[in-house]
Formats: sequence, C-alpha cells, structure tokens
Amino acid sequence: MTSPPGTPTPLPPLAGGPGGADALRPLIDTVLGALRTGAEERGGPLPAGGPETVTARVLAALGDVLPTHGTGDHEALRTLVHTLTAGAADPADPLCAAHLHCPPLAVAAAADLAASALNPSLDSWDQAPAASAVEALLTRTLAAEFYDTPRADALVTTGGTEANQLALLLARERHGPRLTVLHGTNAHHSVPRSAWLLGLPPAIALPTPTGTLDPDRVAEALTRTTGPVLVAATAGTTDAGLIDPLGPLADLCHQHGADLHIDAAYGGLLALSPRHRTKVEGLSRAHSLTLDLHKLGWQPVAAGLLAVPDTALLAPLAHQADYLNATDDTEAGLPDLLGRSLRTTRRPDALKIATTLRSLGRDGLAHLIDLTCAAAHRLAELLDAHPGFELHAPPTISTVLFRPTPTDDDQLAALRRTLLLDGSAVLGRATAGGRLWLKATLLNPHTTQRDLQALLTLLAPTPSRKAAPTDDRAARSTP
Ligand SMILES: *Cc1c(COP(=O)(O)O)cnc(C)c1O
Repeated sequence: MTSPPGTPTPLPPLAGGPGGADALRPLIDTVLGALRTGAEERGGPLPAGGPETVTARVLAALGDVLPTHGTGDHEALRTLVHTLTAGAADPADPLCAAHLHCPPLAVAAAADLAASALNPSLDSWDQAPAASAVEALLTRTLAAEFYDTPRADALVTTGGTEANQLALLLARERHGPRLTVLHGTNAHHSVPRSAWLLGLPPAIALPTPTGTLDPDRVAEALTRTTGPVLVAATAGTTDAGLIDPLGPLADLCHQHGADLHIDAAYGGLLALSPRHRTKVEGLSRAHSLTLDLHKLGWQPVAAGLLAVPDTALLAPLAHQADYLNATDDTEAGLPDLLGRSLRTTRRPDALKIATTLRSLGRDGLAHLIDLTCAAAHRLAELLDAHPGFELHAPPTISTVLFRPTPTDDDQLAALRRTLLLDGSAVLGRATAGGRLWLKATLLNPHTTQRDLQALLTLLAPTPSRKAAPTDDRAARSTP
C-alpha cells in the first residue's frame, strides 16, 4: 500500500456492517483469481514432489509469515490462496479419492462466506439470533428424517469424532462410569478413543473378519459382560464402506437391555435416497446416531451431527454460565444454547447445510448420492473386468478396494506413495482379509466413465507405467 506522506494508513475494512459487501467484493475477486492460478499450477489432484517440495515451495512463497510491515490485503490473499491451492489435495479432482474427503458444493462454500462475514457464535442468543433459529430448525428437521418420534433432535458437531464422543458421554451419563462400550474392530478409531477420553473401562473390540459385526459374536459378548453396555455399530465403515446388520443388532440390544449407538457418519445420508435407503434400515432404532454432512452431503468441513430420538436425551449437556445464559434471561424467553454443545464459541455450520438442502431439495441430494454410488459400482465393474486387477468386493456405498495383479503388500504400499509423490492420484489403503488393498473412496458426483478409465490406465500394471515414472508433471516438480 502506498499513500502520500502524511496520509494516515486506512484501517482494514470489516467483512460485516454496511460497507462489508463492497469491501469483500474486490477481495473475493482476488481470491477467485488465486484459486484459478493455483489450480493451474498444480494441474492435477495434488502437488507433485512430496512433502519436502511442497514445504519448500510454501516457505519460498510466504517468506516471513509475520512481516514488520504488511503487504496489504490483495497481495496477502493472492500469495496465500495461490500457494494453498497449488499445494492442495483437491477432492474436486476425480482422481483424489483416498478418504471420506468430499468436494464441497459451490453453494455450500458460498453460504459459508456469509457465515464468516457475519460471524454469529452459537453459544448465546444475543450473538446469533437468526443463526440459532436456523440451527434449531435444521437439527429438528434432519433428526426427523431418521427418527419418527415427536421430539427428535440433533446437535451440530465438528464431525463424526465429536458426535461419537458426545454419544458415549450421553450414554455414560445415563448409565454411570462403569459403562462398557462394545464395538467391532471395523469401528472408527474415535469410538475406543472416546471411551478412553471419558474415563470409561477400556472398550471391547470384537473381531470382524468379514468386515461387519457378527450378531452371534455380539450376543455372546453381551451375555458375558456384566453391568451396563453400549453397543456401537457402524453404518458405512471407514475402510470398506460396509454396513453392520443394524436390525439384528438392535434386536439384540433390546433383548439384553443394552443401548445402541450407530456411527452413520458415512452411510447415514443413504436414508435420503429411495434407491439406497433399505441398506440403512434400522438406523431409527439407535439411542443416538452420528451423521457427517462433510462426507455424503458435500459440505465444507465442518458439518457433523449427533441425532437422538428425543431431545430429553440431551439434558445431561445442560450447563450454566451467567454471562451466556443467566436464569432470569432464560426465564424471560431468551433461548439457552449452551447445552447444545461442549464447545462455547461455535460457527453457524447450520447455515451452509440448510442452504444446500433448500437449493437441492431432497431429490437433488438423493440424485448426488445415487450418482456417487453408481460411479463406485462402475469402477468396480471396470476393475473386475480387467485382467490386471483384483476387486475385493462390489461396493456397498462408494468405497472400492482393489489390487493390481500380481503384487505384494509392500509393492502396493509403495505404489500408493509413488502416486502421491508424483501428484497423479490420491488413493487410500485398507487391510481386508489379511491383505492390503488400494482404496478408492468415491465422493465426487461429477466423476465420469472417462475419469475412471484414466485411473485404470494410470494403475494398470503395463510396461508403460514402469518405463515412464518421470512424466512432465514429475519433471516440473523438480525445483
Ligand atoms: C469419518 C468418520 C468418522 C469421523 O468423522 P470426522 O468428521 O472425521 O470427525 C467417524 N466414523 C466414521 C464411520 C467415519 O467414516
């Protein structure tokens, strides 16, 4: 910024207030330009060259992160956003398919900009009058999609991990600190970790050699275990996208007086698709339900939920801090928000979710889910038909495990890293049936047959791949 001598430096503009929109507009232009140039520089699903190259580039571009004199808004945005984009693993690229890492919808990202500009905080009504009302409507509406009960409710969380923690906390408050958590080895790591965090007895992990919980094994464990039990089942395992037998597990829990939590972070949203909803029948029988809209919901992080059949089940979270929810304020009608989270300051993540639901509608969202599952099935068919690959199993949701043949586990792990380092594809890894597999977690509804073919071509164990490890992308990465 250069101003005539003697002119006071203008204060940086605010995002909100009467001048906010006009101040933001040119800055957003700069951001969008940098998103474009950064993506052009990257030219693929992730930056070529691996951690050292990327870190060196970030260092070179940023130099001093806290300079004595600032560079001004546009330069800072251009440099940081360009650098971040050039070095991003972009889930909007069809070959970026390792994790449950979704490409956010443009509409959701645009709504999130308003959340940042207005900065409502969901810990008291006087910081979030409309935002708290939007959140209350959204959580009740989404909970009612899963629970056919009059007072179904949900809490907004930072994701599946926080939702699982809250589920175990609520179960501990119902049953006391001797609660045993039973889960499969297929469960998300946050389930046993939450038991540890909450000071519960170590969670019991039941073997899941087929990938899902075996009701007979659970029945046996329930018979053996004394004291209160919470069974944590999974609808959409992180490794393979498999769904535990929810109905039989709910029956068993009912017979044995155990509580049931279902971690449906990945698979829960299938309930919105008429084509796929039968796969997750039984979700409504859980005492609590983890959902994640930053997976099959295409939200920017964070967008998790913990749903319960009755809002009264959330009572243990009630908490008081006079400056946020004084009794007389609450009695006078100001909504008490502090019992809606363990966090205090909290972003209005409900805004982007509610905007997306309104924009797409139930059928629009179901269409995206159906397209994504269909792409995974198509990939599985292509792999199965190709002599150079072994398919582990047809996908249940949108995760495909496969191996090039012939290969061993070490070669497979090395292949995955090679793809990461040359920036050509982001694939995950998973162990199933005692062997290592490559994992494609498809979450991009725009993925086409050509994209899937491109992935096969990249991986096909032909001499061409082995003969040409240094294509132009790899060459470009050399500093
Ligand atoms: C992704 C996932 C989680 C964790 O969710 P975060 O949003 O990463 O905290 C929990 N459980 C399952 C089954 C998941 O797939």
